[in-house]
Amino acid sequence: MKTGNKRSLSSKLWLERQLNDPYVARAKREGLRSRAAFKLTEIDDKYRVLRPGARVVDLGAAPGGWSQVAAKRVGPKGRVVAIDLLDIDPLEGVEFVQMDFTDDDAPERLKAMLDGPADIVLSDMAANTTGHRRTDHLKIVGLVEMAAEFARQVLAPGGAFLAKVFQGGTEGALLSALKRDFAIVRHVKPAASRSDSAELYLLATGFRGDAPPADG
Ligand code: SAM
Repeated sequence: MKTGNKRSLSSKLWLERQLNDPYVARAKREGLRSRAAFKLTEIDDKYRVLRPGARVVDLGAAPGGWSQVAAKRVGPKGRVVAIDLLDIDPLEGVEFVQMDFTDDDAPERLKAMLDGPADIVLSDMAANTTGHRRTDHLKIVGLVEMAAEFARQVLAPGGAFLAKVFQGGTEGALLSALKRDFAIVRHVKPAASRSDSAELYLLATGFRGDAPPADG
């Protein structure tokens, strides 16, 4: 069988998987913008971070699946502030800015939009891969670290941070810093996350805020 070059084979496999993916069909049926929406739904069904009235920041929000789920769950008294390099079609209950989160101005811009502390910082950001393993690894870790730093700056005590990481990609330093700043840190792999992908989520809950650590 003629398969063409590597890239066209992988695009073909991607398309095939996409067409046969029950989550893709379900997202379409339910008017959700991405199959990724089910990952957040699943995580939140289990850990209940998106409470009514909560204030949420969604980093790397395009095309908007997570923002849709978040806006629905926090309801009209809540707030969803979202950012992405790519534009998204407007979503009810979501304030969006098209911007690179790694821009110096981005954290301040988001804070101004929030106009107060956040209860949850979500990050489904994924850097474009270059194919160079070490470079890709550093880019991914860099984005998660920036997201975690931002979360520390904006979260109210008791707040939560949920971020996409990759198996083998969570640096020990980041994990220990999160364990210091949050009561519980866990790795979660929702069923909607393809089992053949190295994608994994890190969920940190119970942000300690500025309170000094209890040392007994
Ligand atoms: N959670 C989204 C949903 O449910 O529709 C899907 C997010 S997608 C997997 C990852 C997104 O991260 C992409 O849209 C990409 O543009 C964005 N992204 C990557 N690096 C970024 C950066 N530096 N600043 C802002 N967005 C970024």
